[in-house]
Amino acid sequence: MHRDFILNLEKKVFTGQDISYEEGCRLINLSDDALFEIIASAERTRRHFKGIEINLCSIVNAKSGMCQEDCSFCSQSAFYNTDIQTYPMIEPKDIVNAAVNAAKNGAREFSIVTSGTAVGSDEDISILIDAIHGIKQKTILERCASLGITKKEVLLKLKEAGLQSYHHNLETARSFFPNICTTHDYEDDVNVIKTAKELGFYICCGGVFGLGETKEQRVELAVTLRELGVDSIPINFLNPRPGTPLENANHLTPIECLKIIALYRFMLPQKDIVICGGRPANLRDMQCLIFAAGANGMMIGNYLTTMGRQVEEDLKMIRDLGLKPRIN
Ligand code: SF4
Repeated sequence: MHRDFILNLEKKVFTGQDISYEEGCRLINLSDDALFEIIASAERTRRHFKGIEINLCSIVNAKSGMCQEDCSFCSQSAFYNTDIQTYPMIEPKDIVNAAVNAAKNGAREFSIVTSGTAVGSDEDISILIDAIHGIKQKTILERCASLGITKKEVLLKLKEAGLQSYHHNLETARSFFPNICTTHDYEDDVNVIKTAKELGFYICCGGVFGLGETKEQRVELAVTLRELGVDSIPINFLNPRPGTPLENANHLTPIECLKIIALYRFMLPQKDIVICGGRPANLRDMQCLIFAAGANGMMIGNYLTTMGRQVEEDLKMIRDLGLKPRIN
């Protein structure tokens, strides 16, 4: 029975029809027995729309901690007593060096990430502009930044300097967001995405799963991202951080993670789906199935405050699967 349902969804996707919220909910609620049927279909869908090339991206944590927001999963919030290293904006040359290393490791995209509600001081903006120029000069990386709820004027200056993509996660569904963050509104996040899109940035916007949201709320977020017309969806899985309110949350199971990835491939079939933080901790030995489940991208190297796997292991995994890193 679930086989017919999955094949019917696949047919809809291949003929350009949207999967509805209700269909998404039915898909994400299928029993674990259906996993390999879901994956087989998601793999065909990924191959059809995205082929065998995998987008690899890397980040630098250019400004760490001391954030005035209270996101309950985040070790960089000043509300919580965590043991992370905190520092103000690093020098442009350090950002550029991190980008050069990312390029050597095989990354295609590179994002400068800063903690805090927004970037706004002249000094920080000038560092970012210098860093963007340097990355452009020394690499062919796609240049991305994740700078919070940053104002339109600042985004415009950065675009003029050569920034191509803007990353800003909605984190979770609108209906669950007040459980996760009380210091700003969901609409503030939505608005920054709309502004960046208006300015012509490639939009990278997704969330963190395993925060206590329901399966239906995972579908709700997919619908919102589809309505916003984002280009790329970073999928993070919670890796509970000591000192945060979610420190005792359970990891998702690998099967839950794979179903989430497949849900997003079915609901946003033409978009880039990139697996980011929490991959090794949540998927463990099943990491190689993320591509069959529908992902066509992966963050390599370290995450913001936690370590990733060895890059060589990730590259080997891609080669072993008969896939290859996207070059341009
Ligand atoms: S997720 Fe971003 S905005 Fe929220 S606390 Fe962490 S650094 Fe601040």
